[in-house]
Amino acid sequence: MNHLKSLIREVPDFPKPGILFYDITTLLKDAQGLRSLIDELGAGYVGKGIDKVIGIEARGFIFAPAVAYALNAGFVPVRKPKKLPAATERVEYQLEYGTDALEIHRDAIQAGEHVLIVDDVLATGGTAAAVTKLAEKLGGRVVGLGFVIELDFLKGREKLPGYDIQAMLHY
Ligand code: AMP
Repeated sequence: MNHLKSLIREVPDFPKPGILFYDITTLLKDAQGLRSLIDELGAGYVGKGIDKVIGIEARGFIFAPAVAYALNAGFVPVRKPKKLPAATERVEYQLEYGTDALEIHRDAIQAGEHVLIVDDVLATGGTAAAVTKLAEKLGGRVVGLGFVIELDFLKGREKLPGYDIQAMLHY
């Protein structure tokens, strides 16, 4: 795991002063690193009957489809507003300043389907919590959430009580 950490580039003051950005592109370009990433992200959910893996725009799109492939599940994109062409459900959530919104196609998940949500970083948890709401609005059962990185000090888990959360790397 420390090897994987060494493959993640830490960029200070991006996208704004005071933020230490964890850049996973340096992990993705490493063949063994990428393989470990996909294997590890899905490992805890093998045999759990996952029907759909949700990836969150934009960085979740990079590896959620590969995790879905590994789990023999389908892939579902959750996108920023007005990007999806057919009928959508929308959820709004609080940012530090103001609100943001995410959308999912209404027919992306059938009632009762088992859903895994994946993203690169669990920070404050606002984004992930919003996505659990979207999946549940459609009747999906959120079996778990998988992250490459969890920023423990931001306590994102507190916004996701009762959910199974698996993070590969902790900071
Ligand atoms: P959250 O605060 O948990 O809602 O995080 C929102 C999104 O921002 C997540 O999808 C992450 O991809 C991204 N993010 C937040 N903090 C960082 C960080 N320090 N480095 C890289 N990505 C981040």
